Amino acid sequence: MQISAILHGESQSGAPMLGDHLAMDLLNTEARDDGKAIEFWNNDAEVLQWLARYGIAPATEGKTLDPGELLNRAKALRTLARQLITEFKEEKPSDISELNQYLHSFHTVPHLAKDPEGKLTLSRISRSTSIGSLLGPVAEAVAELLVEGNFDLVKQCEHPDCILWFYDRTKAHKRRWCSMALCGNRHKAAQFRKRSSS
Ligand SMILES: [Zn+2]
Repeated sequence: MQISAILHGESQSGAPMLGDHLAMDLLNTEARDDGKAIEFWNNDAEVLQWLARYGIAPATEGKTLDPGELLNRAKALRTLARQLITEFKEEKPSDISELNQYLHSFHTVPHLAKDPEGKLTLSRISRSTSIGSLLGPVAEAVAELLVEGNFDLVKQCEHPDCILWFYDRTKAHKRRWCSMALCGNRHKAAQFRKRSSS
């Protein structure tokens, strides 16, 4: 089975949701299969669908998006996130100022509401432009990772043909694969072939 087919199958539509952190899944909107790059974001609609899977929806107010604007900004955020996360992982100096541009365009206000049972809930709702409300939460997830994340647990799948990232939340912190079903089994099969041919 093609990896791309498994990746697609795992999430029904689009990028795999196996990073255990929104910032990791952001990077995983680019994958690799048989040495070929897979791009899960090819238009605004695919970015919107991806965001919706994480409960991120466009603000009802504010200007509408220009065609291609969301795609371009989302990809720029992804490139920036990959650069920052890699630099933090390698303990290299990094420039965080560009991330602030995304964070500063994300305005939220406290919002009191009643749930269907009449219980009060307090949350924050967006008062941003469309781009701010859509990419702000993703930028915030990246910022949270940089501030609070343990970068020993920020890992890339060990399979040589895989570029997927994950945050290792397992108890023993021994997670090696993006997914056991995917690369874990590929690795086991390769080991088995090696043993039986020697
Ligand atoms: Zn993998």
